[in-house]
Amino acid sequence: MAKKLLIDLRKFRDHNITGPSDKHMPEGIDSPSPNTNGLKTIRELAVFQYTCRRCEEAPCIDVCPAEALEKDEQGIVTRYTNLCIACKSCVAICPFGTMMNDFFEHKRTGGDYFDLNDEHEMNKFLEACPDGAAEMVEMDEDPEQNIFKLTDKVLVKEIPWEGLK
Ligand code: SF4
Ligand code: SF4
Repeated sequence: MAKKLLIDLRKFRDHNITGPSDKHMPEGIDSPSPNTNGLKTIRELAVFQYTCRRCEEAPCIDVCPAEALEKDEQGIVTRYTNLCIACKSCVAICPFGTMMNDFFEHKRTGGDYFDLNDEHEMNKFLEACPDGAAEMVEMDEDPEQNIFKLTDKVLVKEIPWEGLK
């Protein structure tokens, strides 16, 4: 079985709250991503797919001054990176704290993005991740263990909102 990257969103979230604020979290890019509205990090894709509660009257979409957010045909919130002005109004208004505090910052020149299709960059990404937040595994998705498929190469560990089960 081919190895896959497993990211644990709970550990990324913990680190986002308690980790040093001056250290950027590494971002993995798995292109071509299933989302064509811009280059998306796997953390953003995973959070909108598995953490977001898909509010019917989504305050994040309503508050966005740039009309950069919309729902796709499955009800998954998606962000147009070319429109987003990184104001973070959506991050602040989400009643469930879905988006991590460092989301959508224009911050990452010089090594915060890693191409997960390149073995060398993948290794650098794994080294840069908070302890236990990312690892290589030989398995498929396993909902019993709260492990879900994001892409053919990426699995996500998250306790999904009841409404998604
Ligand atoms: S407000 Fe939060 S939970 Fe609701 S749709 Fe937006 S991101 Fe998802
Ligand atoms: S951070 Fe981007 S997506 Fe969020 S409200 Fe601001 S412009 Fe819209």
